[in-house]
Amino acid sequence: MSTPIYLDNSATTPIDPAVLDAMLPFLREQFGNPASSTHAWGRSASRAVEQARAEVARLVGAEARDIVWTSGATESNNLAIKGAALAAQKRGRHLVTVQTEHKAVLDTMQWLERQGFEVTCLAPRKNGLLDAEAFRAALRPDTVLASVMLVNNEIGVIQDVAALGAICRANGTLFHVDAAQATGKVAIDLAQWPVDIMSLTAHKTYGPKGIGALYVRRAPQVRLECQMHGGGHERGLRSGTLATHQIVGMGAAFRIAGELMATEVPQLRALRDRFWSKLKDLPGVILNGDMEKRIANNLNISLDIPNCDSLVTTLTDIAVSSTSACSTGGVSHVLQALGSDAGVAGNSIRITVGRFNTMEEIDRAADYLRQKIEDCRAGRLAA
Ligand SMILES: *Cc1c(COP(=O)(O)O)cnc(C)c1O
Repeated sequence: MSTPIYLDNSATTPIDPAVLDAMLPFLREQFGNPASSTHAWGRSASRAVEQARAEVARLVGAEARDIVWTSGATESNNLAIKGAALAAQKRGRHLVTVQTEHKAVLDTMQWLERQGFEVTCLAPRKNGLLDAEAFRAALRPDTVLASVMLVNNEIGVIQDVAALGAICRANGTLFHVDAAQATGKVAIDLAQWPVDIMSLTAHKTYGPKGIGALYVRRAPQVRLECQMHGGGHERGLRSGTLATHQIVGMGAAFRIAGELMATEVPQLRALRDRFWSKLKDLPGVILNGDMEKRIANNLNISLDIPNCDSLVTTLTDIAVSSTSACSTGGVSHVLQALGSDAGVAGNSIRITVGRFNTMEEIDRAADYLRQKIEDCRAGRLAA
């Protein structure tokens, strides 16, 4: 049997070969500590780190000095939410978020709840998008922080964070955005958007795992309580020796994403739309999430078909994600928040195409999935 076709680019992407080429010298001869300014090794590492910081900032319309390195979006979300809530708790202890956020946001909010904060967790509309008026109504005088993701990792819908940020500004509430899935897919402009803190990660955008960043606005300045105490690196917000090779990889990945975005997004859309065109007429195939306000490479479908309960576990020729895999009770919290019936939500597939997929692969994968669905409807698929 051949290798399955990789269609799980929202879980992680392959590393772009050009990113790997940029990283390797910093694992070999250029091993200096960027904090060592007394010799050439350290200075060369420091220059590479600052170049990468500028590359990451450029993709999101920020200034380099607004960017703080972390180990990924999980850490960024923890630093943003705990850091902002703890720094602002004398002004208020109310937080607002959405039921469809990533667990790194929801679990952090829950921890703060145990520390005495009050959390309002809003339900989105059936299409996965948050209603701006419901959001406005949830903000109170003591709401110190709101957190809403830009792109949902399961259903790919794009929230209007510029509009939501304006509502936060008017209320004196800090606004955090988890943009882990958005870089390279959606144009981000932090120079214009009223967003105070934004979480980023490299490995969903063809960079290495274990490196991310947090954008922390300097004007008006955001105060965060640091979560990692130590040598005072990164404006005192995140101590620890910087992982030069990982940082260089993230910088290269974000630079390439910026260069390719205008041509890559239409290509991804063509691949995704081709895939969907082969499935959408099948009875019982339901698309989850808004189709228009959605990134170009995502499909998320539920199968409301008798005999099809365990179809996703039989898909050996394609690497897709059952969106329920990492959720409690085996059912996606995102699909449940959309009001999906638990049985149907538990039988869902996320298909995300990427930079290295070809039209020929998409045709093969879609024909394969279509055949599987037809087989199980006819009772021909042994579960
Ligand atoms: C992947 C992901 C995260 C976690 O990022 P890591 O870098 O893997 O820690 C957080 N939020 C969203 C929306 C994600 O897709």
